[in-house]
Amino acid sequence: MTSQATQPQYRLEQTRKVSAFPGPKSTELAARRAKVIASGVSSSAPVYVADADGGIIEDVDGNRSIDLGSGIAVTSVGAPAPAVVAAVQDQVQHFTHTCFTISPYEGYVAVAEQLAVLTPGDHEKRTALFNSGAVAVENAVKVARVATGRTAVVAFDHAYHGRTNLTMGLTAKANPYKSSPAGSFGPFAPEIYRVPMSFPFREEAPIKGEDAARRAITMIEKQIGAENVAAILIEPIQGEGGFIVPAEGFLPALAAWAREKGVVFIADEVQAGFCRTGDWFASDHEGVVPDIITMAKGIAGGLPLSAVTGRAELMDTVHAGGLGGTHGGNPVACAAALAAIQTMKDLDLNSRAREIEAQVRERRSKVAEEVGIIGEERGRGAMLAPEFVKSGPAETTKEPNAEATKAVAANCLENGVVILTCGTYGNVVRLLPPLVIGDELLADALDVLEAATRAAA
Ligand SMILES: *Cc1c(COP(=O)(O)O)cnc(C)c1O
Repeated sequence: MTSQATQPQYRLEQTRKVSAFPGPKSTELAARRAKVIASGVSSSAPVYVADADGGIIEDVDGNRSIDLGSGIAVTSVGAPAPAVVAAVQDQVQHFTHTCFTISPYEGYVAVAEQLAVLTPGDHEKRTALFNSGAVAVENAVKVARVATGRTAVVAFDHAYHGRTNLTMGLTAKANPYKSSPAGSFGPFAPEIYRVPMSFPFREEAPIKGEDAARRAITMIEKQIGAENVAAILIEPIQGEGGFIVPAEGFLPALAAWAREKGVVFIADEVQAGFCRTGDWFASDHEGVVPDIITMAKGIAGGLPLSAVTGRAELMDTVHAGGLGGTHGGNPVACAAALAAIQTMKDLDLNSRAREIEAQVRERRSKVAEEVGIIGEERGRGAMLAPEFVKSGPAETTKEPNAEATKAVAANCLENGVVILTCGTYGNVVRLLPPLVIGDELLADALDVLEAATRAAA
C-alpha cells in the first residue's frame, strides 16, 4: 500500500479457508435453485455467498474464498466499502426513489459533477445516468445518432457491449451472447458494422497501432462511408473479449480520424473505468479524449448504476424526454457512487492498481516462462490476464487452449480462489481483484493460480 493513502479496514478475516466445497448448505441451495432459476442464468461457483469483505467471499458453509473477480470488476472499493455502507444507509432511510425524470434530487447532479471532472478532457460535459452498462451503451448510440443525423455504428472484433438487443448486435462473440446450437436471440439491430481490432498477440505479422487503425479506417471508408457513420464504439482495453490491449497509437489514431470526419468516438469504459487500470479511465493512458464515455461496473461500490458522459454540444442535441428511464440514476445508487468515488481517492486506488500489477507481473512472468502454455500475460493495472495456448514439441504455439483455461479456473475455484475466464476463444483467465485486497491475500491467491497453472501444463 502507498504510504500517503488511508488503509482499507476489514471486518472479515482476510485468509483463505476451504473445507467442504460445496458444503451441505450450498448443496441444498443448489437443489432449490434448480427448481426455480432459469437454466440460461448460470454461475461459475457452486457455493452460495453469506458475506464478503476486502478480498474475501465467505459462503454459507463457512468456506472463505479469495476474490479475484470483484463480481466482474464491480467491487473495486470492496463489497462492502465502509463509506458506501454509510452513504447507502443514510440515503435509504430518507428516500429510495422518486424517479429523477419526475422529482429530481441532488445525488444525481453530484454524480454528474464528479464525472465531469474525472472523465478525460476539460471540455464542457453533460451526463445521463442509467442502471446497467448495456443501457448506457444503448443511450450513447442514441445520442450519437441524433447528434450526427447518421445511423451506422462501428464496433470491433472481440467487442463486448452487453446483452440487450442493440448491444448483442454490437457484441462480437456469438456463443453464448447471441446464439448457440440451442437457438438465436436475433434478429439483431441493423446498421452495425464490425472492423478489425488491434490485437498484438494475434496479428499475423507485427503491425503498429497507427497501421492497425488505418486498416480499420480503410474498411470503414470503403465499406460504409465515413459520412454515414454516427459513431465508432470501442473498449480501450477489451474486457470479455480477452483483456486485449491494443497496440500503442491505435486508439489516438482512431480518435483523430473520428474527429476529422465528424464521427462520435465512444469509449466503452464499463469494465476498464474507475481505477481498474491504474488510471481513472483506460483512455487516460494514451491521453485519448472520447466524445462520449460509458461507465458502469466499478462506479458505485456494487450498486447498479451506469453513466453516459459526453461533450455538451453532442449530449444536448437530444430533445427533452428523449433520455431517461424509471430507475436510472437511483438515489441510493448515486449515494453509493459518491462514496465509492471518495473511497477511490482516499485509498488512492489508482496507485494500488499499479502496485497490484507489479506484484502479479513479477510472479506470473516466471510461471509463464516455465510452463509453456501461456502465450501472453497482458492487461494493465489490476486488469490482467494470462492467455493459454497449446505447447508444441519445440515451442509454445498460438493455438488457443480452452481446456487448460477451464482446468485452471476449476482448480482455483476448488482451492478457494474465485477466478473468471474470458476471451473469444475461451482461453483467457482474467484477474480482477478488488483494489482493496491486501498483499498477503493476493500472494496466496497467486500461489493457488500458479499451482493450478502448473497442474494444467
Ligand atoms: C459488462 C460490460 C457491459 C455491459 O454491462 P451490464 O451492466 O452487464 O449491462 C458493456 N460493456 C462492457 C465493456 C462491459 O464489460
